[in-house]
Amino acid sequence: MGSTYQTIADLEATAEEAGALGERVGAWLVAEGIAVPEPEPSDRDKTWYLPGPRWSHVTDERRSLGTDGLAVVTGRTVFFGSPSTGGSPICPHCAAHVPHDGAFHAAVDAWWATGLADVRCPVCGRTVPLPAWEWENDFFAFAHLGVEHWNGPPLRPAFIAELTEVLGHRTRLLAGKI
Ligand SMILES: [Zn+2]
Repeated sequence: MGSTYQTIADLEATAEEAGALGERVGAWLVAEGIAVPEPEPSDRDKTWYLPGPRWSHVTDERRSLGTDGLAVVTGRTVFFGSPSTGGSPICPHCAAHVPHDGAFHAAVDAWWATGLADVRCPVCGRTVPLPAWEWENDFFAFAHLGVEHWNGPPLRPAFIAELTEVLGHRTRLLAGKI
């Protein structure tokens, strides 16, 4: 069966500010009555929030299996969309769709290891930091903060917009199944 996921990734948060921003998101979820903190947090880099009184703000449907909730993920993370769909890189400067080739595979590995990686656009020749590339199907986000929703119905656009406002940054929605 597998698991489905939707991730709202913050495309601009730095490694330094991700922790504080993640806490701001959590405080907002609680203050709005959308969610409540997990009673016994177990993972420093992933904080779970369980449905609160106003959970209907997040999705239109409510699951009854006790699996609802949101996870605020902080720390350098390669977020990805649907592996079955995939998606090619798009240069943010010249908008060329370029092959998802070895240069990108190496850059993904390097970014994951060090947080730094560039790929030169084969069309316009500019050197572009890996996180600045756009992706068909919003396939990748190389980010330090994301909010995950597992095995749930679609997130409401209004919720995504408000969360984006709380972050004060550009975000990208990635959805997939593993
Ligand atoms: Zn280019």
